[in-house]
Amino acid sequence: MTSTIKRSVCPYDCPDTCGLLVEVEDDRAVRVTGDPEHPFTRGTLCPKMNHYEHTVHSPRRLTTPLRRTGPKGSSQFEAISWDQALDTIAERWTEIIARHGAETILPYSYAGTMGLVQRNAGHPFFHRLGASRLARTICAPAKEAGWKAVMGDTPGPHPDRVADSDLVILWGINAVATNIHFLHGVREAKTRGAAVWLIDTYRTPTAAVADEVFLVRPGADAALALAMMHVLVREGLTDNGFLDEWVQGFDRLRAESLAEMPPERAAELTGLSAEAITSMAHAFGRARAPFIRVGSGLSRYGNGAMTVRCIATLPALTGAYLRPGGGCLCGTSSGGAFATKEIVREDFMPRPTRIINMNQLGHVLNDLDDPPVRSLYVYHSNPAAVAPDQNAVIRGLERSDLFTVVHERFLTDTARLADLVLPATTSLEHSDLYRAYGSYCIQRAQAAIAPVGESRSNWDTFRLLAQRLGFAEPFFRQSADQLIDHLCRLPSALRQGIDRESFEAGKAVELALCAESRERFGTPSGKIEIFNPAETEPLPRYRPTYEEAPEFPLRLMTAVTPYALNASFYEQESLRRKQGGMRLMVNPREAQRRGLRSGQAVLARNRLGEVRFALTVSEKVPPGLAVAEGIWWREFAPGERTVNALTSQRLTDGGRGSTFYDNSIELHPCE
Ligand code: SF4
Repeated sequence: MTSTIKRSVCPYDCPDTCGLLVEVEDDRAVRVTGDPEHPFTRGTLCPKMNHYEHTVHSPRRLTTPLRRTGPKGSSQFEAISWDQALDTIAERWTEIIARHGAETILPYSYAGTMGLVQRNAGHPFFHRLGASRLARTICAPAKEAGWKAVMGDTPGPHPDRVADSDLVILWGINAVATNIHFLHGVREAKTRGAAVWLIDTYRTPTAAVADEVFLVRPGADAALALAMMHVLVREGLTDNGFLDEWVQGFDRLRAESLAEMPPERAAELTGLSAEAITSMAHAFGRARAPFIRVGSGLSRYGNGAMTVRCIATLPALTGAYLRPGGGCLCGTSSGGAFATKEIVREDFMPRPTRIINMNQLGHVLNDLDDPPVRSLYVYHSNPAAVAPDQNAVIRGLERSDLFTVVHERFLTDTARLADLVLPATTSLEHSDLYRAYGSYCIQRAQAAIAPVGESRSNWDTFRLLAQRLGFAEPFFRQSADQLIDHLCRLPSALRQGIDRESFEAGKAVELALCAESRERFGTPSGKIEIFNPAETEPLPRYRPTYEEAPEFPLRLMTAVTPYALNASFYEQESLRRKQGGMRLMVNPREAQRRGLRSGQAVLARNRLGEVRFALTVSEKVPPGLAVAEGIWWREFAPGERTVNALTSQRLTDGGRGSTFYDNSIELHPCE
């Protein structure tokens, strides 16, 4: 049998956005490897994607629409045709809209696929319908808000420039699990003599890459950044020429925020010693080009935006932002590469409709009554697993009067609670357009194989629904490829100078926007705005995290794993095995204090719920912490619930983001 190689892109919510080579035989993907011509990912894939073909052709794939036949959550369904499914949705929605208004319909999606067209395919449809809008804030809006408060629209440095750094700080990022290709530049920097630090709450697998590991208490990173700046100022390690020319508000920072954070106070807050903090500041101040790579987890506390703001301020004190190889990378800013507004079409809204924060789905489904949500349409997302306060979310999804449609590749926790399930394509079965958020690469991908079974893409499903509901706009008649052609034809300053021929041939190309010598920063003043009068709190400051009751003394880390991405990849048994089951890790002291041992079944409990785990006792986790890696599907969990039964719907200080890391628990042996 002859095979062909087709180019594609990893669609998952990961900053790397790897280029893929897909070997296709008889319309099946038989092998997936990295594309060696990709400028940033250079032909390697993470363990999750090395056998993407096992996901694409998994026996668990949904291949036909399903209609619920038993009680909600019973997983009893019957196969129906697409026509029956679409007719049912159109009828139910027409009736709901007539009786209660279109805002009682709520779409729910996030980044199950990162392709611009398929990810945003529901926006124009739901805008035209007049449905409630979803504030898609589950990931890192606090991180964006923190960066923006100091740096405005300034693009982050090119990730590969880290190779020129002499001090690399991986701050709250488990890059081995979530950003492996960034480590290429880190290793290069190391071979040239750079020191590499990991600052995190426990010894993640990324500790293996670091020369030094600094463990801080959860949510105390801002205290560390401020105390380091305190020492830089006290010991004359600042770049005063840079501060005079490029920074707004340094004097106020020094007099107010830094004065109140000497290393001794930060030591109490972080758990590091004052001596360690002082010597970190010395090393930072003496480095030629320190480079900070900031993760997202540290922004998922009540003080998350302020934490990122303090960290982003640190390189400003030594002028690192203008040194090749120096600065701070929170994410790359390639958002303007394509005109996303041409996909989401806000102009289709009959009037501005209400906005619902996705982190509060549990509250919204159970308590909102102005008016209540009567239908939920979930696509490429699994809120029963990934949304905070799982008990509230599941209670809401179990409502008998809620008409729930789930468009998915697998029978996920959410799909099991649906009235109708629609089979979705994987990224190899549809076209899309990608832009990375951890590099400056863009890429166009065509479908590599035909849809598996009767699965349909988001775009095609919304097109069919638009027809059923009588939307007359020609927009809803175009194919995904036609829309992609349109987006590629529209001019964009960011795409100027790209290698057009390669892009049109389906290869990844880089945007050229990382000028290191700049005439101004991307803020209103053109300077780095340490003092930002537009913010409610104009200066970066230490702010505590949410208080927890003393009966829950262990801080819970809902951490990442190299073998899953949020709730994705649990369909692959080999990846589940590599994770070693749904475990909770604690320090030996915490285990001993409670008379617990490794391997034992334990119950983690707080005010929101209780979750059963297998216990792992490990020195990698400091006392006071409990670490749960991965977001398991309930069918593979040792108990009825998974980790998000322990996380709250509270929001961050900026960006109204999730606070997945800002929760506490107590542990008990299982009876
Ligand atoms: S999940 Fe990330 S690292 Fe893994 S293949 Fe996809 S883009 Fe690359």
